[in-house]
Amino acid sequence: MADDARDLNAPTGEGEVEVILRGGAVDRPADVTPYEPLIEAKTGLGELLAPVAGFGVTFASLFRPTVTEQYPYEKVPTKPRFHGRHQLNRYADGLEKCIGCELCAWACPADAIYVEGADNTEDARYSPGERYAAVYQINYLRCIFCGLCIEACPTRSLTMTNEYELADDSRQDLIFTKTQLLSDLLPGMEQPPHPMRLGEKDTDYYVGAGGTGGSDR
Ligand code: SF4
Repeated sequence: MADDARDLNAPTGEGEVEVILRGGAVDRPADVTPYEPLIEAKTGLGELLAPVAGFGVTFASLFRPTVTEQYPYEKVPTKPRFHGRHQLNRYADGLEKCIGCELCAWACPADAIYVEGADNTEDARYSPGERYAAVYQINYLRCIFCGLCIEACPTRSLTMTNEYELADDSRQDLIFTKTQLLSDLLPGMEQPPHPMRLGEKDTDYYVGAGGTGGSDR
């Protein structure tokens, strides 16, 4: 017999567990506790019905009301706090609330938001502050709708709508631009750029804007 071949009939030593294979059978050590099932075995009628007991759930479901939704023919409204497509909000005069600070982009764990800020000028004002978002994009191929961007936004410019129909067959079309994300102009709003209409000074503007509402209310 070669040196590296094991003699299965040879004893393995004193005190050592001896397991010898003979045609697939295993000699188990005497001190191994036999397997005991934790669930008590059924007897009588229980034993008779056990093979079909699983069908009880199916049978009971036959008499429950159907919950099948007829989407897309009938759309069920979401819960009010459902995280859907984002929206960039406006002040009551139409100026944008976004100040291009990029905090939403930094907060995003999926790196789905891209912002490029730019300076407002007296000739071209898009937001009441110094800066506005010249470029704003959300990549819905990456977005996980966690809402961390909403928490990070200091001006409540960014909020989430209940809109959930975002499927598309084009990767490019799922990168939403600022134009797509900006809220519609409500009555009394004016398309930027334009001067601040809600007050001469910043404090007047913001106090007035807070009192008259915006597009996120
Ligand atoms: S949406 Fe809010 S957090 Fe994002 S850049 Fe605009 S102001 Fe900043």
